[in-house]
Amino acid sequence: MKIVCDVCGNKRETSSLLCPFCGSKMDVAELVKHTEFVHKTINLEAGRPVVEVALNRMNEIIEDSVRNDVNVLTLIHGYGSSGKGGAIRSECRKMLDYLKSNGLISNYIIGEDFNKRSGSVKSLLRRYPQLVADKHLNRGNRGITLVIL
Ligand SMILES: [Zn+2]
Repeated sequence: MKIVCDVCGNKRETSSLLCPFCGSKMDVAELVKHTEFVHKTINLEAGRPVVEVALNRMNEIIEDSVRNDVNVLTLIHGYGSSGKGGAIRSECRKMLDYLKSNGLISNYIIGEDFNKRSGSVKSLLRRYPQLVADKHLNRGNRGITLVIL
């Protein structure tokens, strides 16, 4: 996540209160205020693509989102138990596993696990309180996956 420093105007990470460029300190409230939460929802099922097309699209969207400082992506991939919907879902998640282990995304949360009681969701909601109002929260939606960039 990046913000623009008030003092020197450089774009910097929010991981520290100190700007690495000019050394000015921002308090936590300021930091939160400056941090824009960008959440996008992408429907990978649109146009009923074959698995390869859906996966390519997902990769492009993730690369693009990382470049554009998107924080969270909600992927809609459907959940058919057989056929295209199910295949896109399982292949997407395999790909996300790979991206996570290579550090290209920070994490992903499958729709079934997107529940307030889950430990990883709790820490996600602390980081992005905007997601508390997400319509998929606590719904056990098997047709979606959240990608944390
Ligand atoms: Zn600065």
